[in-house]
Amino acid sequence: MKNISVIGSGTMGNGIVHVFAQHGFQVTMIDINPAALEKALATIGKNLDRQVTKALITEEVKAQTLANIATSTDLKTGVENAEFVIEAATENVEAKLNIFKQLDEFTKPGVILASNTSSISITKLGAATKRPEHVIGMHFMNPVPMMKLVEVIAGFKTTNEVTKTTVDLCKTLGKIPVAVYDYPGFVANRILMPMINEAIYTLYEDVAGVEAIDTVMKLGMAHPMGPLQLADFIGLDVCLAILNVLYEGFGNQKYAPCPLLVKMVTAGQLGVKTKMGFYDYTGESKELNTAPNFKKLGA
Ligand code: NAD
Repeated sequence: MKNISVIGSGTMGNGIVHVFAQHGFQVTMIDINPAALEKALATIGKNLDRQVTKALITEEVKAQTLANIATSTDLKTGVENAEFVIEAATENVEAKLNIFKQLDEFTKPGVILASNTSSISITKLGAATKRPEHVIGMHFMNPVPMMKLVEVIAGFKTTNEVTKTTVDLCKTLGKIPVAVYDYPGFVANRILMPMINEAIYTLYEDVAGVEAIDTVMKLGMAHPMGPLQLADFIGLDVCLAILNVLYEGFGNQKYAPCPLLVKMVTAGQLGVKTKMGFYDYTGESKELNTAPNFKKLGA
């Protein structure tokens, strides 16, 4: 396997492209938005520079990695030579179903179609194609070049052979795959998102401020990052979308997203990517969000 196509060049897509390209694959990075492709190439360049500075890779590896990446805004031509496809587009069911329908049409028969979705049913994505046995979840963690785990999710019809190929591919990338079954949120987000939601409820109910909540979880539970900072990092829109999938998938009130999270997403305050979330990222360093309409923080 040599030719890989990655759909979506946002937070996750550019990381996935980076890792494949660094491991010698020819990668086509596809996005409907040309500006997103440009930004992704710049991000990959910056991240490679950091690896060079830390002596993790050489200048030659950096140059070869960049040379292994092609870009496209056209799905059809971008995937026609692919031997393995990873979809990492926006977390939206309708959009992903549409992409999978097209991938089934545009890729060669037998090509595995993987999704990096955080929560959308792999079985559902498979059902949008005529090859559900070749559809699988390949859930990388953020930031992709640094995080070892990949959750590999078998849909209802995914074959063991396809799971094995995907697991082996993760190992080729130096990752540690964990195979799980397809239920809402899989394992990672089924456990993580209720914790983040509860942290937001704790803020919403004025139990404590942003810093206090994050400090308790960092120092008390040895988490490297507090849940509110982590939510900013993941993207509050992504967190909300995942909680909605859990809420609808299990029909259980305990997954209902906190109204404060809904309000922040409605206001377009999505965390690091919009430079404003529970924290303010507009300056050099991370500060508390002190906007007047935001809850009084820093108690
Ligand atoms: P993002 O918003 O940063 O990027 C999504 C990209 O997809 C955008 O550049 C957008 O232009 C592009 N896109 C949208 N529709 C497209 C289409 N039809 N064809 C091609 N490109 C299209 O999102 P993200 O955070 O990178 O998330 C991508 C996927 O990865 C989602 O399924 C998300 O749930 C999952 N994920 C996210 C994280 C995280 O921490 N952000 C972690 C693991 C998995």
